Amino acid sequence: MVKYVKYMIFSSIVLTTILGSASFVYESAVINETRDFDAVNFRMVDFSDEDLSLFCDIAFTDDEVRIRKWRKDIRVEIKNIEELDSRSVEEVDSVIAILAPLIAPLKIERVRRDGNLHVYRRVEKVNPSKPEPFCLNGLARINKVKPYSWDITYASIYDGCEASSQTLMHEFEHALGLNHPIKLYSYYVTIGRSVIPQYLRSQKEIIAFRSQPFYLSDQEKSVIKMLYSDEIKSGMHIETFARKMGFTDEDRKRMIPDINKKPRIIVYPSPDDY
Ligand SMILES: [Zn+2]
Repeated sequence: MVKYVKYMIFSSIVLTTILGSASFVYESAVINETRDFDAVNFRMVDFSDEDLSLFCDIAFTDDEVRIRKWRKDIRVEIKNIEELDSRSVEEVDSVIAILAPLIAPLKIERVRRDGNLHVYRRVEKVNPSKPEPFCLNGLARINKVKPYSWDITYASIYDGCEASSQTLMHEFEHALGLNHPIKLYSYYVTIGRSVIPQYLRSQKEIIAFRSQPFYLSDQEKSVIKMLYSDEIKSGMHIETFARKMGFTDEDRKRMIPDINKKPRIIVYPSPDDY
């Protein structure tokens, strides 16, 4: 009997050690994967210094300052399609058409069922579970980080009955893994929290913005292409990115925003405000 107990204890120690080592090896492999980044290849994606600066600001999520992105094709399902007029449905298709070439070869398409990106349009309250401190026009949620995975596998988007098509575009950008910028920019940023006129400095920019119901600045288009380039791995930390890109102290100051700085104004973009 004693021999049997000894044998059991010995076996469980061996098993625990094996499992522990296996999970350590797996964890190391996953962490290494997030550090696997070829800056030379990445620089072949066509982007400017301005695009790179915006990328450092909005492509790394605020809690862990890591990349979150989809690795599987995105299937957009409008959950309340029965309640919507055709225009509200076509607007979703328009956003998809604009985003599709930016994330290729990953696909984004609208489906009738089994979607992994759920859209609720023209809802009365975008977040009924929480009292709203201010009028929310839209809301987007992505799945939480899982152990060893920063992939986005599920997202949901809500837009309010008063929201403009620009809000829908803004929420789709969140669903792709982008965050509100911390810094202020001299051009209009759809993923920005604010529409204060300082973003639009020239008449030309105002005209460009107004002529497109689904406006995305060229810089944001570049950022989405950069995020969805093969070189950028889900889970990559901004420090890994900065180091491998060979950022100098000066580059870091210019490119990497201070995440402790709270953005000042929280208003969703709406072209009607102009
Ligand atoms: Zn937002």
